[in-house]
This record gives sequence, C-alpha cells and structure tokens, in this order.
Amino acid sequence: MERLSIFDIYKIGVGPSSSHTLGPWKAANRFALGLVDKPITSLQVRLFGSLSKTGVGHGTDIAVMLGLQSFDPETIDTTNIDAYIQKIRTEKKLRITGADVDFNPALQIIYEKHALPYHPNALTFRAEIEGGDVVEETYYSIGGGFITQGKEKEGFIHINDLPFPVESGSDLIAHTETTGQPISGVVMRNELYLRNKDEIRAGVLRIFDTMLECVYQGCHSEGILPGGLNVKKRAKALCDRLLDGRQFDNIPDWLEAIKTSPHNFSTINKWISCFALAVNEENASLGRVVTSPTNGAAGVIPAVLMYYYCFCDYKGEDDILNFILTSGEIGCIFKKRATISAAVGGCQAEIGVSSAMAAGALTELLGGDPEQVLMAAEIAMEHHLGLTCDPIGGLVQIPCIERNTMGAIKAITASHLAMEGNPKNAIVNFDMVVKTMWDTAQDMHEKYKETAEGGLAFNLPVVLPNC
Ligand code: SF4
Repeated sequence: MERLSIFDIYKIGVGPSSSHTLGPWKAANRFALGLVDKPITSLQVRLFGSLSKTGVGHGTDIAVMLGLQSFDPETIDTTNIDAYIQKIRTEKKLRITGADVDFNPALQIIYEKHALPYHPNALTFRAEIEGGDVVEETYYSIGGGFITQGKEKEGFIHINDLPFPVESGSDLIAHTETTGQPISGVVMRNELYLRNKDEIRAGVLRIFDTMLECVYQGCHSEGILPGGLNVKKRAKALCDRLLDGRQFDNIPDWLEAIKTSPHNFSTINKWISCFALAVNEENASLGRVVTSPTNGAAGVIPAVLMYYYCFCDYKGEDDILNFILTSGEIGCIFKKRATISAAVGGCQAEIGVSSAMAAGALTELLGGDPEQVLMAAEIAMEHHLGLTCDPIGGLVQIPCIERNTMGAIKAITASHLAMEGNPKNAIVNFDMVVKTMWDTAQDMHEKYKETAEGGLAFNLPVVLPNC
C-alpha cells in the first residue's frame, strides 16, 4: 500500500513548471547537498528528453542553477531570481556549497534530445572533485515537483497501518460509508497519522494564503510575459474593468469589493477567468505559486476556490481545509493510478487532474455526498481525456494560461451536474475514468507530451532567445 499526503500534492514553489522547474530545482538542491566539503573543480548538467526539448521555455536551466546554489523554491525572493541568473551568466561562476566554481551555462548545461529509459524527464549532474574523483547522479522529475532516482518514488510512504488506506475511488467511498464521514473527514484522519491537527490546519491555510497572494499579485501586475513570445498579461486589465477602475491596496478590501460585485453569470464567469489568468501569468513570470497538482495547472484550483469564497456560501476556514483535503486526495489517486506528468500523459494529466480535484472538492462544499463528489471529479476528467500538451515555444503560456480558465469552468460545471445528478445512475464511474486517462496517456503520441513538437507548437513554430 502506498500513501501520499495532500502536502505532497500541494507544494509552494516557483513557476513556471512543476516537472521542469520545481523537480529539477529540488534535484539540484539534493545533488549540491551531497557535495558539501568537497572541493569541486568542474560542474556539468545534462538535460534529457522533455527537459531538453522544452527546458529553456520552462525555466529548467534557471531552476538547476538556483538549486545548485541551494536556494529553496519555497522561500526564495522571486524578485531576485533574474539578478541571480544574470550574475552567473555574466561572471560565469556559480556559488555551490560555499565556494565559487567556474560555470558557463551556455556550455555546461547540455541539452540531450534523447530520453533516458526510465522517464522522459531526466537530468544528470556531474561534478569533478579535486584529486580526480567524480560524483555523478541522475534524477527523474516525474511530475508535480516529485523527483526520484529510479529506486523509490519520493513522497510515497509504504505503510499498511493507515486508518483508512486509499488506492482508488471505491476505497474512499467504502471508508466514508464505514465512518459516516465526508471524504474530507476520512482524509483528515489519515493526515493525522502523519502530523497533528494544528500543523495540518496551519499548512492548509498557508497554501490558501499563498494562492490568494498569487491571485492578488497577478491582478496587480501588467506588461509582457518573459520568454520572447510577447504575450501580454491580461488579468489586471480584466480585474480593473470588473471593479470599474476602483483600486485597493490590501487583499481584504479587494476581496470585499469582489464579493459585492454583481452576482450575474457573466460577471462571475469573468472573475473565474480573471483568477485563473492571474495565477498563471504569475507562474509564467517565475512568480510564487502553489503547485496544484502541477504548476502549469496551478490556476484551476485557486480560481474554483475563489469562486466559492467570493460567490458561494463561504462559511469560514473549515471550508478551505475541507476543500484542500478532498481535492488533495483526488489528486493522490490520479498520481497513484495514472499520472500527473504532462511528459507522460499530456495536458489531461495537468489541467484534467486539477479540474477533477477542484470539481470534487467544490461538490463537497456545496453539500454533495461522497458519491456526488467523485461523480463531479469523474465528469471533469472525462471531458479532458486526450488533451494534449503542446506549449508554443516550450513556454508555459499558450495554450497553458487560458487553459486554466477552461479547467476551472469545467470543474464548476461538473460540480453542478453532479449536484443535480444521481451517482447510482451514472454509467461511468471515477475509477473507470482514472484508468481511461492512464490508458490514453500510454496511447498518446510522444510529440503531444510536453515536447513542443506537436499541435499548436508545431503549427506556430517560434525560435526564442536561448536565455
Ligand atoms: S499545455 Fe498543459 S500540460 Fe502542457 S505545459 Fe501547458 S498547462 Fe502544462
């Protein structure tokens, strides 16, 4: 039995990609840790497969340089990232474990087009040590910021004595029937096996605060996204229009203004898009986001949660806690039974999973029973099946940013359908759609799996500056 925590699914980090930024960053952190007290004479990084093909657009080069310098993606001041990277590029030196080592990113980060057999996202670090020793480690970034060296999947705790082991939707439903608890209640009891109640609540509220700050920041930031595609940020203009140009300099006042804006379909629909755009514009700008369950899809869950918070019957922090618990468990099941890696399963594994997570959690908050929760998650994923990953120029911008608005709207529609539906009459169930997603991932052509070689990326080829 394998166990993932909701805190493995929700992680605070830096954009634009969980598999191509956060994972490689953590791998570089770990490699650097193993070099403490070793006098390094030279350093090299090789990126394979998808990390090579879309690595520049996804900031993989930046991530490994920051990771080697032991910056923490959760705490780094994101406004300094540009300066740190420019310093390395100018001085051709990188500070690792307290010492400066010659490092020219243009020569010492090597892009290998072929993939390694274990996973399409692989990277190898090589350090030569004074005296001739060599330290070489290969890591695989397997989606959602998870890394492994191919021996054991990080984040999985192999235990059989969890109060309520969950490997599938049917396990989850069985536990809710035994306990009489909602899905969030069952998940909470499992989480309590790993940490205490105060830690869980504090961790969840920190996740929510980070999401909120990200939405606020995105709604107050304008200009052109980095990377060379000249994509204009849109969230601020939309937010300004929706608030009739009224400006607020703090989050509570701003939220209050949104809550009291007209509750008609068109306005609410625009706000949902605005929230999702804001997060993914921040993500594309290497801003601070919550991986949920990936960075490319980081806007879906905040947009749906903000929808509930601003326009539904928000009752207090317990709603946020329950939303994160339920959505997190749905994400865990997809990770265990299918994939949350676009390099393995295309965009159905990112936007599809985030939409399913959001749909299920919203349904519980709206009063749906556990079967309706999974019915909503099933509907949301069903209508993302086969969705390919084809980011133009390898940047997490087009179609990624708008795609988050679609994932959020589909989640809300799926939730409302489930609330009006009877799961007993459903022909497709949640576990069936998880399996179908995985089958589809395996059948999907390689070029649609985060390579920027298919779809929109193929029909709109662009050559971006390699910096
Ligand atoms: S197309 Fe989807 S999976 Fe691919 S990078 Fe964009 S958001 Fe991620």
